[in-house]
Amino acid sequence: MNHNVVRLDHITRSYAGGVTALDGVSLDIRRGELVAIVGPSGSGKSTLLNMIGSLDRPSSGTVTVDGHDIAGLGDRELSALRALSIGFIFQHFYLTAGVRALDNVAEGLLYAGIPLAERRRAARTALERVGLGHRVYHRPHELSGGEKQRVAIARALVGGPGLLLADEPTGALDSHSGTTVMNLLRALNADGTTVVIITHDREIAASLPRQVHVRDGRIVHDSAQNAQGDVQAVSAC
Ligand code: ADP
Repeated sequence: MNHNVVRLDHITRSYAGGVTALDGVSLDIRRGELVAIVGPSGSGKSTLLNMIGSLDRPSSGTVTVDGHDIAGLGDRELSALRALSIGFIFQHFYLTAGVRALDNVAEGLLYAGIPLAERRRAARTALERVGLGHRVYHRPHELSGGEKQRVAIARALVGGPGLLLADEPTGALDSHSGTTVMNLLRALNADGTTVVIITHDREIAASLPRQVHVRDGRIVHDSAQNAQGDVQAVSAC
């Protein structure tokens, strides 16, 4: 049985103009892991997360998500894989303005072909899961930053994905709200969801079971590899 949710094998990602955002990255993420991705700004963290989430395709190398080589999937199949298997959380929440929390979360099921009443039922359950059962009719401007991020987390998990990807989820929050959001992500992980988090916060990164350090488009340190006793190639960039 394959325990890897994600396998990146010698991924490169180049952009026009000669920018190499990822330069030969290999990474396995196993089911149930809680992983921090850290590194300086511009080092390739978001590009890496987009690869893991199959939001982007590599210039070379293979990406396998839930056992599917994404190169073999068409855009529609890829959308379906994302809708069913992966939840995304971003620093700035990306909630729809003027739309109540319930419907912002129900939007997370828009492409799953589920009727509206059922979407709303699932959305209410997801909002309760993140501790916002009392805020379902609030609109984003009526919510604090931490509450907005919890709505965004509810939207990410409403479809029951096995994998949650978070790009600086506490980056726009005060420390108290950040702690609440991190505790929530830990609780979701404890319930079996694989969680990958980009963070600039050293304390948060150090508190997670695995840290993957990225620099100049390469993985320069992976605590899981060291824990397994593998010799890590720390490349001089
Ligand atoms: P990080 O998340 O660590 O800040 P990114 O993954 O966003 O880094 O970016 C890595 C590198 O790729 C940077 O040099 C960035 O400028 C470049 N890059 C990212 N997206 C694009 C794009 N769409 N077009 C051109 N260059 C890009």
